[in-house]
Amino acid sequence: MSQIDTLPPLRDVIANHELSARKSLGQNFLLDLNLTAKIARIPGDLTTCDVLEVGPGPGGLTRGLLAEGARRVLAIEKDQRCLPALEEIVAVYPERLNVVNADALELNPLEHLSPPIRVVSNLPYNVGTELLIRWLTPPTWPPVWQSLTLMFQREVAERIVAQPGSKAYGRLALLSQWRSDARIAMHLPPGAFTPPPKVSSAVVHLTALPKPRFEADPRTLEHVVARAFNQRRKMLRAALKGVIPDLEDHLLAAGIAPTDRAEQVSLEQFCALARQVKESK
Ligand code: SAM
Repeated sequence: MSQIDTLPPLRDVIANHELSARKSLGQNFLLDLNLTAKIARIPGDLTTCDVLEVGPGPGGLTRGLLAEGARRVLAIEKDQRCLPALEEIVAVYPERLNVVNADALELNPLEHLSPPIRVVSNLPYNVGTELLIRWLTPPTWPPVWQSLTLMFQREVAERIVAQPGSKAYGRLALLSQWRSDARIAMHLPPGAFTPPPKVSSAVVHLTALPKPRFEADPRTLEHVVARAFNQRRKMLRAALKGVIPDLEDHLLAAGIAPTDRAEQVSLEQFCALARQVKESK
């Protein structure tokens, strides 16, 4: 489902509204509507769900999401200067687009959206990881969102999908992969953006699993993982000292050698260790 809207090209929108990009707001805009349509297609059928977009900027991705048939889009934009440009899109899709001028870290999107919800955003780099961690650690699971389709700097995207044994493997990989399927759906060179950032970017697509891949108490798992990677170059028997009495026995019972380092330990093993830590309390 794709329909060409009657709105002006994004370069004209930026010029008309004098939207010079601000670094402090992580503003690197996507002006190619073919590209934003491609990103909007990554989550699949949008016609039966509401979409949350953080940081619509001049609205290139917003237009893609609406053209792909999203039932409703909530676009949260912190920069007031973008609002007149976004209002032009609201005029074309009055029933389906809601623009809110707010900081996405402070607004509860559930006041404006109803499930099922998909999140699709070209995130500002300065708040992207914080938003992802919030979405990955809600009080209950499954979360309110079905999927997250998010643009990150390539290095962050690689940390999300990283496997044990790699340099990029750590807390972000474990939090992402414990209760979601995570994959890199698209790579973008700096030149895809205006202005071009210094580094490449990638779109990560995460689909929420109905239940965690392995059983574990969320807080205990987060604590164990944070401790393990806080001193990632240390052997685990040193990095996790004090987390549980008889640590070495518990590491062995979870299938972990006490001399292993955090980056060698699989998600399944971390979950097994977290269960033992929880039971010991
Ligand atoms: N979606 C647009 C695109 O693809 O061209 C713009 C993406 S740009 C990387 C990030 C956008 O997020 C900017 O428009 C910026 O003003 C906005 N932004 C930055 N911090 C924000 C925050 N805390 N809450 C909401 N929007 C924010």
